[in-house]
This record gives sequence, C-alpha cells and structure tokens, in this order.
Amino acid sequence: MDHFLYRDGELYAEDVPVRDIADGVGTPFYCYSTATLTRHFQLFEEALHGMPHLICYAMKAASNQAILTLMAQLGAGMDVVSGGEYARAIAAGVPGERIVFSGVGKTRTEMRQALQGGVRQFNLESEPEMEALNEVALSLGVVAPVTVRVNPDVDAQTHAKIATGKSENKFGIPITRAREVYARVAALPGLRAVGIDVHIGSQLTSLEPYRQAFEKVADLTDALRADGHEILRLDLGGGLGIPYLRDNQAPPLPLQYGALIKEILGDKGCEIEIEPGRLVAGNAGILVSRVIYLKEGEGRDFLILDGAMNDLIRPAMYDAHHDIVPVMEPVAGVAQRPFDIVGPVCESGDTFARGRMMPPMGAGDLVAFRSAGAYGAVMASEYNTRPLIPEVLVQKDQFAVIRARPSFEEIIERDTIPPWL
Ligand SMILES: *Cc1c(COP(=O)(O)O)cnc(C)c1O
Repeated sequence: MDHFLYRDGELYAEDVPVRDIADGVGTPFYCYSTATLTRHFQLFEEALHGMPHLICYAMKAASNQAILTLMAQLGAGMDVVSGGEYARAIAAGVPGERIVFSGVGKTRTEMRQALQGGVRQFNLESEPEMEALNEVALSLGVVAPVTVRVNPDVDAQTHAKIATGKSENKFGIPITRAREVYARVAALPGLRAVGIDVHIGSQLTSLEPYRQAFEKVADLTDALRADGHEILRLDLGGGLGIPYLRDNQAPPLPLQYGALIKEILGDKGCEIEIEPGRLVAGNAGILVSRVIYLKEGEGRDFLILDGAMNDLIRPAMYDAHHDIVPVMEPVAGVAQRPFDIVGPVCESGDTFARGRMMPPMGAGDLVAFRSAGAYGAVMASEYNTRPLIPEVLVQKDQFAVIRARPSFEEIIERDTIPPWL
C-alpha cells in the first residue's frame, strides 16, 4: 500500500494535492511519502520481530539526505557501496557500528575512511580485496570486522542486469570455495570474520531463490563453525521485489520473507542483517511530469513529456514498466486509447511506454509515474544539460523540497575553462 491516492478527483501525496506541488516547484520532480517510507521500513521490523536483527537500508535505492535522516530516526542501519554513501550515512547521524560496507570494488581510500569513521563490517567480495583491507587495517593499527560475500549459484529469476547470485556474475566468491577463503581470512591479522554475507539480486518476485540461498548459508554456517570460525551474523542482502505492474502476480511480502528467514536460519543463534532498498523506497515515490505536446502521428500518438530518460532511466536500462497515471482522475468509464509516452531527449531509448492505454490527454496535463522512488533520482543525470530534477518529501499536509533544481548558471559554473583557452 502507498499513500498516493485519488481524492476529490485528483491525485494526492498523503494530504497534499500533487498539483499544488507541481505549481510550487515546477515539473518534472520526484515526490516521496514519509508515511509510505516509514511503513515499509516497519514491515521489515515486524517481519524480523523476535530475532536479533538489524535492517540496513540499502541507500543506493534512494539516498537523499532527508530520506536517510528519516531512516536513521526509525533506527535503521545503512548498507553503503561507496565512500560517498558512507559519508551520507555519517551525515545522517547513523553511527559507524550500524553501517555495513558492501560493493565489489572498495578502494583503499574507502576502506581507510570507514575504518577511521567506524564501521559495522565490510562485506568482502574477493581475495585481493581481503589482502588490501588487511594492509589498510594493519597500517591503522586496527582489526577490520568482515564477512565474505558468498555466491550461492542460484537463479534469482530476475532481470539479467540485476541478478547477482549466479556463478557467472561478478559478485562474491563461489560458495564452494568459502571454507578455503575463511581460512585465509583467519590467517590475516588485520581481519576478523564476524559472519557470512549473501545477496542474490534485486526485484525478486519469488521466495524460492531465497530459500535455496538461505539453505546453502545454513549449511555453510555449520561448516565454518566446525572449522573453528565464529559466525555471529548472517547478512542476507536485499532484493525483495515490488509490484510494478497493475495486474502483476504479487511479490512475496516482508512477513513471508521474514518467516522464511526464521524457518531456515532462526536456530543458528546469529544476528540477522538484511539490506532492503527497493521495497522501502520504490512505492514510496512518484515522478511527476507534464505533457509538453500531444503529437499525433501515423497510426500512433505520442505524449511528449518534460521528463526524460535522464530523469528516470529504468525503462531504457531495464525495460522496466512503470504505471503512468493522470494526476487529474479520469472520469469513470471514459474511453482510453494507446499512446507512446516519450521524453524530449534525442534518443529512441527515451521512451517510457509504447501503446499505453490512457484516457484523453493533452498539452499541459500532469502525469505521475508510480513506483519511481527507488533507482529513480539516484540514477538521474544531466544529459542534454537537463538539470537534475527536484526531490520533494511529503508528510501529511506538508511538503518540502529536499533537493532543489539547480539553475543553468550553477550547472555551467561547475565546469572550469583551462588557462590556455
Ligand atoms: C543493491 C543491493 C541491495 C539492495 O537491493 P534492493 O533490490 O534494492 O533491495 C542490498 N545489498 C546489496 C549488496 C546490493 O548490492
């Protein structure tokens, strides 16, 4: 459930008419709901209730400082994948002992930053990375808490670009080599293994791949303990999917996911860590855009929006579907017809939807892309020197711009002309 509903004939974000925000900040913009973000985080809290656990919000899904501050206030830890994200977590008030550092290519600079600022654990993905972290830790005179990300070789049954748990992916070390690799960790004085990490992909719509992965992690926990390693934590990654399609089969709920974790791993005496991103933020955000032109073509009509692929790249990059709804509620029973919904960028890929059935629409009308809160604003660029679009956070009847649209001057001033020109 989200908090973007029609009321009195128009779309509201909580208790604010979306049209009012559009009038105030201009289009396009992202809009997030505090109530939805909060509810989604709490669904995971409820799902893991009764087990020692920490929910580390995967901020790469939506990393505006206001969203992170909200998450921190709700008690979230953070999963970060870069020095920049680490700095964001600290700036949002998340203590180092609640920050998990993931990612396949952490640099020594990033390792130093996190060791000096405080970190719960590094999730390591390769042996060269282990050697590097060992050296950095020793040079600082500290011992780095680590897990090893194991690749369980399961098919996450998701889009190829966001599947990470098959042996052909670049992520983690093959689970079949885990015992050998943990022995190596134990031999490095700058590292201390504290648990096991696994993350098999994103937008999973079935629990079956999780079941397979968790069973392998359960067996590995026993095997590593038998080898004398202390396995205190199991980091199970993120990846739970959300419904993007109006008539999609429903992805599993956090409660079912939590029950599966309890069933398979509940008796291991470990603290459970999970790293949800998309499920927290995805349906908590919309992208609002205005129709610039209705272009009637041969056999197809185009709605040309002021939003484009640089603002929301998911359709171009992942063939992703977003429901696109008019901000003014269509009259019940009005005839719909197909439109190609496109942005103004000079790329054929700048197409959000083809043949999408919509009620009559024309220039000046507002539309909202649903489920745009995750992997939306964070993946935006200024291609075509289109300014990064504003982000707005709503709470009940209030809204605030949480990132302003830069002016053209600000964009231009970021560049420097060398002295010889
Ligand atoms: C991307 C990622 C996540 C979050 O995935 P979602 O699908 O957004 O829940 C969690 N952990 C790691 C290591 C990731 O790379």
